[in-house]
Amino acid sequence: MHVLSLRLLPFLAALLLAACASAPRAPEAVVRGELDQREYRYLELPNRLRVVLISDPTTDKSAASLRVQAGSGDDPADRQGLAHFLEHMLFLGTAKYPDSAEYQDFINAHGGSHNAYTSVDHTHYFFDIEPESLEPALDRFAQFFVAPLFTPEYVQREANAVDSEYRMGLKDDARREYDVLRELVQPGHPLGKLAVGNLQTLRPTEGDIRGDLLAFHQRHYSANLMTLVVLGKQPLDTLEAMVRPRFDPIEDRDSTALAKVPELFAPSQLPLELRIRPEKETRELSMLFPVPSSRARPSAKPLDYIGNLLGHEGPGGLLSVLKARGLAEGLGAGAGFDLFGQDAFQITVQLTEKGLAERDFVVALVFRAIGQLREGGVEDWRYREQSALGELGFRFREKGSASASVIGIANALADYPVAEVLRGPYLYADYDAALIRDYLARMQPANLLLTVTDRGVETDRQSRWFGTPYAMRSLDAALLSDAARHAPPLVLPAQNVFLPDRVATKSLSAGAPVSPTALADEAGYRLWHLQDGEFPGPKASLYLQMLSARATATPRDAALASLFALLVQDDLNEFAYPATLAGLQYGISPSSRGLSVKLSGYDQRMGLLLEKILHSLQRSEFPAERFTSLKTELMRELGNSTRERPYSQLVDRLGNTLVQRSYSDAELRAALADATPADLAAFAADLRSDASVEVLAHGNLLAEEARALGDSVRDALRGGSGAEAPAVEVLALPAGTSVRDVQIEHPDSSLLMYLQGASSDVAERARVALAGQILGPSFFNELRTERQLGYVVFAQPYPFARVPGLLLGAQSPVAGPAALAKEFRAYLDRQVKALDVMSDDAFARQRDALAARLREKPKSLGEKTERLWSDLGLGSYGFDDREQVALAVDALSRPEWTAYFRARLAAEDAASLLVLSTGEAHRGKDGNLPSGRVVDPAGRWKSDAKYYRFEWPRPVQDPGRALHSGTP
Ligand SMILES: [Zn+2]
Repeated sequence: MHVLSLRLLPFLAALLLAACASAPRAPEAVVRGELDQREYRYLELPNRLRVVLISDPTTDKSAASLRVQAGSGDDPADRQGLAHFLEHMLFLGTAKYPDSAEYQDFINAHGGSHNAYTSVDHTHYFFDIEPESLEPALDRFAQFFVAPLFTPEYVQREANAVDSEYRMGLKDDARREYDVLRELVQPGHPLGKLAVGNLQTLRPTEGDIRGDLLAFHQRHYSANLMTLVVLGKQPLDTLEAMVRPRFDPIEDRDSTALAKVPELFAPSQLPLELRIRPEKETRELSMLFPVPSSRARPSAKPLDYIGNLLGHEGPGGLLSVLKARGLAEGLGAGAGFDLFGQDAFQITVQLTEKGLAERDFVVALVFRAIGQLREGGVEDWRYREQSALGELGFRFREKGSASASVIGIANALADYPVAEVLRGPYLYADYDAALIRDYLARMQPANLLLTVTDRGVETDRQSRWFGTPYAMRSLDAALLSDAARHAPPLVLPAQNVFLPDRVATKSLSAGAPVSPTALADEAGYRLWHLQDGEFPGPKASLYLQMLSARATATPRDAALASLFALLVQDDLNEFAYPATLAGLQYGISPSSRGLSVKLSGYDQRMGLLLEKILHSLQRSEFPAERFTSLKTELMRELGNSTRERPYSQLVDRLGNTLVQRSYSDAELRAALADATPADLAAFAADLRSDASVEVLAHGNLLAEEARALGDSVRDALRGGSGAEAPAVEVLALPAGTSVRDVQIEHPDSSLLMYLQGASSDVAERARVALAGQILGPSFFNELRTERQLGYVVFAQPYPFARVPGLLLGAQSPVAGPAALAKEFRAYLDRQVKALDVMSDDAFARQRDALAARLREKPKSLGEKTERLWSDLGLGSYGFDDREQVALAVDALSRPEWTAYFRARLAAEDAASLLVLSTGEAHRGKDGNLPSGRVVDPAGRWKSDAKYYRFEWPRPVQDPGRALHSGTP
């Protein structure tokens, strides 16, 4: 297909889309952005598998993704979760590669990663890998779809992993709310099924479940329902030659994807109010309107247009008015459901307590906004502005990681013609005012599902699979309409002043530095600059940090730092929101050394936004009601962390235990409770009087531009006290086992075993990183696949600053922490033996895979900025920290490393910390907790504890000099 102006020919475009599905076509050219040097080829194999090949000679990762148009919507009623279960099973052996761990071992040993997910209408598998190993990886991958084994032994075992996955989500509010929707949809709608599945719905021991898996695979895993995307460094012809023989054997069974399903709700069901009691402290109001899918007009984007205007956070808009009246703290609007020809537009409002009490007014105001849009908000110039923003976004789109590219394109193939798989999501080229108004007309009271989520709502029933308490009642559409007429009018967004009109890459002189140089280095101020030739384009990053010991001196200071960051963002929001729409992002957050501000995007208007941010950062006083509102919000968020999944709470607790002046959410919450506006004002003033300032200007910025931006930061934020910037301190664990017991309300137990390295020097960091590389897959395979201890099972390197550590973790519905600790110990003992017989070749493969991972290039300007920023934080002024570790990895030898592993990490008296929680299911039944030195509940250590200290390094004239202590 030729690239047409779809604006003129929407009808024709729709026809062509329909035609895409059947007739064989000549290769089509994929429309690319300006910075995109990759080559693309589309082809359809004889079995009708649709394929996009991408050749990128510069890539250091290859990737592939295969998407099947079949998902949980296709589950048989008596085996709900089968599609998801099948997704798990495909990883566990094929006729050609029967070993259940082979695929994962292969991917890991060649520097890659893999995953999959099951959705209602499709299932998606993907991996990435070092470029040299693409072909053998594809050979393994293709077999999933040609000849999976479904080994009976693993069928029975893996059903437990699926059940664990279901159990892990039991306290997740998103899943709990979805469970209520499941009970509400019309009978026969695919959303009514338990997509994740559990032992009750899968019934693995009843009937012939393996036969059912095979039957599902045969019926739905047909080449005509699949798309494949492969990215490699090889030329397109070579990639095509790799793909054809491996994927053509997938059978074309001429299957049909599920298409006709009942409407989501029966017309008589709406309008309806649903009240849901969540686990977390949340107060949310959602207004959902079922609407037809707009997929047939992919570049018209009527729902995006509406979402952009309703969700606009500028002055006088919906959120602005709700905030000014103290009713809401946040708002989102958009569609994102798009299944089987149906879609749903949803507006969600994060309510304050007052907003909850006055929610009828909130609903009325939203309807008023929708009415106003319908009457006067559908305008050509607004559409053109969105179109211009989209076009700009596409022109300078960065290519992104290999895996994100293949996943994105495989999904885009379902929504856009081949030529538009890259541009489609950005393209607004089919303005149709009548279509937009038609959608707006459907967002009316009679078509409303209103959901109020709050801990205090009265409920009268519980959902079946997640036990969510809820209630419902029908609403009166006429009353709702009447209320909307009486709501105050809103202001539609003004023209966006941040839309850049000059977008050019500035020329870079030959021989310009390739890593940041210090343009300024004076007392309390340092400016780093790199104009980057590696990522051309009109974008830049400006990162700055106010370093001050005051920011984290006590839990109260740390809590006030968070609150200050929230107040500053809030102060900026109405002004800066259009900037975020125009591709200029910013964020302000507390850090371990102070407060950091990150700006990134088109550089042209960066100075304008920076000026405003600096102005807000100089404030000490904020409106009293904003202080109260945001403090309440922060208290609520800090309280909610006790509802996170157990293992992730334990990971947070690990950090609080090991890093000085890092506080748990409970400590922060307690410290914040009685803070007043005067406390905050005093804190902000202290912070500024203490602050040293570090700035990194990176990307499309000339040295003089960087200097101007940096100097304005210095003038606004540098304090005069001359105080030393704070050091980061990491606890050096004593030999032997320390234990920290954490109380968490959850049925599952969880255990982390943290094995700390012996020093923070680069060789030790390399040794521990290699342990993570080698152990990761076998730990997963032995504890999850073989022992079925839980869905979340992982082993990975987990450093704090430069201090290395190996983290083993699991969350389990079947074993308590004592049982898990025994399993972890037994695993380490088995590893010691296994490593003794590891071949030199196998060792070299793992070592090289790790070194390649470390040497992976950043995939975007933003990713590179993050790395440079991290190097700055570590005082690594050669900006080569990863390379230093990679060099140390290159130097590792098998005998030395295995001896190290035995004597240090796997030793009985290794310096280790167990962080654990006993699940409700295992209390009183798990046996004795592992013995060890008990860390008190606040995680405080005796004063004789030793710490690694990382100073904020100065001076900087000696690049590459590592200013930190190698041993505590
Ligand atoms: Zn799963």
